[in-house]
This record gives sequence, structure tokens and C-alpha cells, in this order.
Amino acid sequence: MPVIRQLPDYLINRIAAGEVIENPAAAVRELVENSLDAGARNITVDVREGGKSWLAVDDDGCGMGPDDLALAVQRHATSKLPEDDLVNIATFGFRGEALPSIGAVARLSISSRAKSAPEAYAITVDAGKIGAVAPTARAGGTRVEVRDIFYATPARLKFLRGDTAELTSIKQVMARHALANPDVRFTLVSEGRTVASYNPCTSHVERVSQIVGDDFSSNSMELDSKRDNVRLRGFAGLPTFSRGNSQHQFLFVNNRPVRDRLLLGALKGAYADTLMGDRHPVAVLFIDIANEDVDINVHPAKLEVRFREPAHIRGLLVSSIQQALQAHGQRTAARTIAPANFSFPSNDIQYTQPRHVAPIPMVRESGFTGASNWQPMARADVQFTDEPAPVVMPQHHPLGAARAQLHGTYIVSQTDDGIIITDQHAAHERIVYERLKHNMAHGGVPRQPLLIPEIVNINPDDAASLLENAGTLAAYGLGIEAFGEGAIAVREIPAILADRIDYAGLFADLADGFAENDAAETLRDALLAILARQACHGSVRAGRILNIDEMNALLRQMEETPLSGQCNHGRPTHVALSLDDLEKLFARK
Ligand code: ADP
Ligand code: MG
Repeated sequence: MPVIRQLPDYLINRIAAGEVIENPAAAVRELVENSLDAGARNITVDVREGGKSWLAVDDDGCGMGPDDLALAVQRHATSKLPEDDLVNIATFGFRGEALPSIGAVARLSISSRAKSAPEAYAITVDAGKIGAVAPTARAGGTRVEVRDIFYATPARLKFLRGDTAELTSIKQVMARHALANPDVRFTLVSEGRTVASYNPCTSHVERVSQIVGDDFSSNSMELDSKRDNVRLRGFAGLPTFSRGNSQHQFLFVNNRPVRDRLLLGALKGAYADTLMGDRHPVAVLFIDIANEDVDINVHPAKLEVRFREPAHIRGLLVSSIQQALQAHGQRTAARTIAPANFSFPSNDIQYTQPRHVAPIPMVRESGFTGASNWQPMARADVQFTDEPAPVVMPQHHPLGAARAQLHGTYIVSQTDDGIIITDQHAAHERIVYERLKHNMAHGGVPRQPLLIPEIVNINPDDAASLLENAGTLAAYGLGIEAFGEGAIAVREIPAILADRIDYAGLFADLADGFAENDAAETLRDALLAILARQACHGSVRAGRILNIDEMNALLRQMEETPLSGQCNHGRPTHVALSLDDLEKLFARK
């Protein structure tokens, strides 16, 4: 028979910590929320090694006296439920779980001085062992230090990411709270250097541009709508201002930062018609709702909430954004509405064999006689090659001999036993990607200096992260320098990008690449994929009519390119249909 026993407190706290304190950023989130609950106006977070070896949160809030200090580190001890009312929760905390959880997995020390009290006091907790309250020196407010987080739970320690990634998460936690509390000053110091500082501002608008960047204000739509008792306000980015991940979506419910699935899904849905699946809108959205209409006590880190009427919230969000998008239709039209052309479907078809070129019908015996009997084309945009029968024998090449290009996108080629349709863009991207990869393995990407440096405005966080990684970017052919707050000067670019670059988009994607990739390998692949995509989108080759030689050259290049069967997003670059398949399709077999 198993023996049931009551677990000791330190173990209970460690278990709770597993849910609440996932990484250093989660500890920062809990501590910053405590500071905000304490009415702080100035909050400073100081970290070393991404918070893994040490982090401290300092505030000028109401502070605690010696008795409260002793209780604060006890499990289920809180000052925030004075009326035992779980329905109307107006504070960030209420479970009395954060401090004992952190104390259970790290070396925690708190020093605090209650408002207008004559003395300050300190307490320590080391892996669950609570020390005695003792007098200390402190002018006011509270300082919480967390050393060696998870040293008491080595399993969790192993899952921590690199310093940069953990620091990025901490930055995001602070940015989210800073967005919701414009009147509070937030400072983030890492390795003794201030890496983010948000001065108090009088309006949300100002804070939004501090954090999301000045360019967001000119590329977003302001929202303010109310339905029944729910209000939605904030800013939703134009589709043309989208990003490669959803890190730039800031959602708040009653000023509490959330990553709620319902809201994220609604946001995605609102842009479904205007954004491709792999692009994500930028948004800062606040939902104000009566406390009794939302339950925040459903997620350990309170990142998800439960609405009493989810459909209502989703509808409000989707319709507000879609209305705004329609109102701003002209600003987005260039990007979202594909140019329609119903006149003559073949205006970007290229034939390799003569067809009926109106108005003069041509009669041939067999094969081709070359270009001599071609008439000049009536439509300048229909191009024919003056090439005779294909000289390339299909059997020599797995991807066959090119025969036609359709819709400026697809190359149709003939093989010995079937046909192949190749997505020219995907193929091009893969080839460029592999070439860049080869370059990286052999001394770096060929670069080209710009005669006049390009000044690119981007959001200050991205600028800081890119400059921090300037050394890495140089190996990729990108030479950048600081150019004031929220801007960088580009002096060198990879030669492969020489055509045309969407600089703002490129650097936003690169910043995302740094934020998301810790390991050198995945970072390299991500950065190369971004460059390859830029090279192909910006290139004059995109959407371009290719002649037969160019098509064949592309196919031959693909045959020599590793992994050429898929583009670097994992989509196939070509599909093959055997004669057998075709016969089945036409029910010949
Ligand atoms: P909760 O926030 O859910 O109450 P915590 O474990 O985070 O639980 O904190 C316990 C208590 O300690 C809080 O209720 C609050 O009274 C006090 N406390 C924690 N941090 C601070 C702070 N920075 N300033 C003042 N009081 C604090
Ligand atoms: Mg708390």
C-alpha cells in the first residue's frame, strides 16, 4: 500500500514555483507587478547573465514593515484580498505565491522600508529556508534580489536559454508593463549598462512610441470603440507594417498584460484578408471590462483570462479592426489587393513552341523552322522566344527541359517520363539561401559598400539589439552603426541585395531573428533565410518573365543545390507529375 503524506512547505513551494516562475523573466514579472501594486513610480530592474545568476528589482512603493516582511515570504500570505473577494480583483497579485515560490528555488533577499517608518528591515530565503528579519539601511521602497535562480531545482536550470534570449524576455515583460503604465518610470540595467529606460509620460500614445517605435504611430490606426460595457482602445498596425512573429502584439485586459489565445486568435482573424499566414500584425490593444465579466484566476502566470462572453469580445476586436482597415483601405490597398487582369490570360505566358499568333495564322509541316516566319507580336507584353526546338535532352536532367513559364511564377518542364512544375520564386530563394550558406562557410557573405549610408528608422529595442549584434551582422555583409535613438546607419549591404531593399522590413526581421534564436546554428539559418527572402523579393527577378535559357539555367542550378526540393520555409519548390499520374488523372488508365 502506498503511504500518503503531507508534503513539506519547501516542496510545495518548489512545485508552485514550477508553474509560476518559469524563467528569470517570470520572476521579474512577479516582482514588477508587486512594485506596481505597491504604487511605485520608479521601478529599476538590474540583471546579470540574463537574470540567471542575479537579478534585482528596486522600487519606491509603499514598502513593508518587519512583520509584513516575515509574512510576505510565507505561502498564501497576501495583503491584496482584504475582503476575501475573488471577483473584484484590482491588483496584479492576490495568490500570495510569488515570493515564497522564488524563495524556494533561489537565494532571495528583500529589504524594505515602510512609508514614514523610521527603519528598514531585511529578510532572506535560501532554497526555502527562511532567515530572521533584521534591520538594514534603506531610504524607502523595496528591493528584492534573486541570486542563482533555480539552483535548488537543477532540472529547470537546464531549460534556461542563453543570456541574450533570457534578457530579451525580461525586456518584453518590462515593455508590456511600461505600455500599460505610462506614468511610471521603468529602467532595465544589464551587466551594469542601461539597456532600456522609459521615462514617465503623460499619455499612452507617447509611451507607445517609446516602446514600439515612432514609425508605429505613422503606420497604425487608432482604435476606440465601445460595445455594451466593453471598451477597446489602442493602436493596430497597418498590414504593410507587419512582422515575422507575434512578439509585437501587446494585449491588455484591464491594464494587465496577457497573451490570451482568444485575443491573439481574434487579432489574427481580423487581419486574415489582409495578411499572409506567416506575417503578424503589430498591435497595442487595451480591453477595459467590468471585473466580474472576466476571470483572471485561470492561469498560473495570469497570462490567460476567461471572458464571460468570449464571442462578444472576439466580435468587438475583429469588427473594430476590420472597420479601421476599411477606412484606411487606401493606405493598405497597394499591398493587399493583387492587380487583377481579366483581359487576356496569357499576358505572362511564354511559349517555347509557336502557337496561333493572331492575326496571321501560320502553317508548319513538322518541327520548327526558327524565328524567320514569326510576326511581330500584337501585344508587347506577350513574349515569345525565338528559340527552336529544345536542344536540351530531358533525360540528362532530373528537372527536365523548360517549356513554358506561367503567371510569371511557374516553370513547366518536360522530363523523360512526365512533367515538372517549378515555383520559380521558391527555387530562387532556395538557391540564394544555399549560396549564402556556402559563403558563410567560406569567409562570409560578399558585401558592397553604399556610397551614401542609408539611415533606417526602426523601433529603439530593435535598433539596440541590432547594434549589439553588429559584429555578427558584419559577417553577413551588413555594416551598421548607431544613428541616434531608434535609427541605424547602414554602410554596407550583402552584394546579393544590391537591387532594391525594404530596409525597415529587413531590419525588423533580423531583430526578430536575434530575439528568437539562441543557438548559433538556428540563428545562422534564420538570418540567411531572411537575407535570401529579401534578395528574392527585392530582386528584379521576382515575377519576371524568363526566357528559355534563363529557365533552364535556373533548373540546372537547382539540380546542383542541396535541398533544392524545398524552399527555406519548407514549402516544395517543384512538383512532378509522371505520365503515369497524368494518365490516371485523365482516366486513361
Ligand atoms: P501577492 O502579490 O499575490 O500578494 P507575493 O508573494 O507576490 O503575493 O507578495 C506577498 C505580499 O508581499 C504582497 O501581498 C504585498 O503585501 C507584499 N509585497 C511584495 N512585494 C512588495 C513590494 N515591492 N512593495 C510592497 N509590498 C510588497
Ligand atoms: Mg505578487
